[in-house]
Amino acid sequence: MSAPLLQARNVARCYHMRKGLLGRSVEVRAVDGVSLTVERGRTLGLVGESGSGKSTTGRLALGLEKPDAGDVLFNGAPMPATDTLAWRQMRARMQMIYQDPLGALDRRLQIVEQVREPFDVHDLGEPKEREALAFALLQSVGLRADQGRRYPHELSGGQRQRAVIARALATKPDLLVCDEPVSALDVSIQAQVINLLVDIQQELGLGLLFISHDLKVVRQVSHRVAVMYLGRIVEEGEADLLLSSPAHPYTEALVSAAPVPGRRTRPRIVLQGDPPNPAARPSGCAFHPRCHAARERCKVESPLLKPMPDGRLAACHVAHDQANFLKAAS
Ligand code: SF4
Repeated sequence: MSAPLLQARNVARCYHMRKGLLGRSVEVRAVDGVSLTVERGRTLGLVGESGSGKSTTGRLALGLEKPDAGDVLFNGAPMPATDTLAWRQMRARMQMIYQDPLGALDRRLQIVEQVREPFDVHDLGEPKEREALAFALLQSVGLRADQGRRYPHELSGGQRQRAVIARALATKPDLLVCDEPVSALDVSIQAQVINLLVDIQQELGLGLLFISHDLKVVRQVSHRVAVMYLGRIVEEGEADLLLSSPAHPYTEALVSAAPVPGRRTRPRIVLQGDPPNPAARPSGCAFHPRCHAARERCKVESPLLKPMPDGRLAACHVAHDQANFLKAAS
């Protein structure tokens, strides 16, 4: 059996912040022991509120940041040391799509010149053919040749994101890490860009790590979903199962806030307050101050992320107790 396309194993990333008048250094665990796998031709949706560690996880997965602990494997091989030839070759096969296409593009260059750039940087194709290759890529994402001759500010947000996707495809990547790729776009344009990503994935067999705070968007693209809270994965499983019957109370709250039109809606669970400061992680289960199902045990005992009888992973005392009770009763 071949190795997964991308595998992060127990990765952790801490930052140090100065706090207070004396500038005391405090440790912030942005990512705290995260494991995830992206298979070829499949999408793993990574969802959670702002500050949950999703974007840091994406950067760790791409090797843009080095984990303090754990490791990342691409096609079964560890990331080479940064700025080596092996690292650049591996990085060419994994690309990132960011939230802000205008920020990702150079305002001084025509779109086609920017899509051509990866061919020049990685010495792909004959130099005289590279512009034609760039135009072909633009056409494949639904942009016309005259739009390729424009500058970023002359295109709409959706067209700019298409241009960014075209540029990411130039090196024929195996993996796309999409970090909030549609959250800056109008809802009608969001659907077009999502459909484009799904079409590209089906045609090229890419693996996608799709990061978003918006469960409605994640639902449309994901085969599997991992839910992050305060630097840890709290639930992970097949998208249909996890989104139709969430086990973790945090997932339940997210799902209740993103009902599917035409499906039975579950009562809305409104999360109280903001996520806690990662520098002052609550004791026990970090979600307990906001959890509608919390028990005394949750304040002192941190739940492990472990398999449920239906195959998903969940980190919740109550979810496991209920599943074990139902199993014993059946
Ligand atoms: Fe809520 Fe307790 Fe489960 Fe944490 S362990 S999610 S506090 S029920």
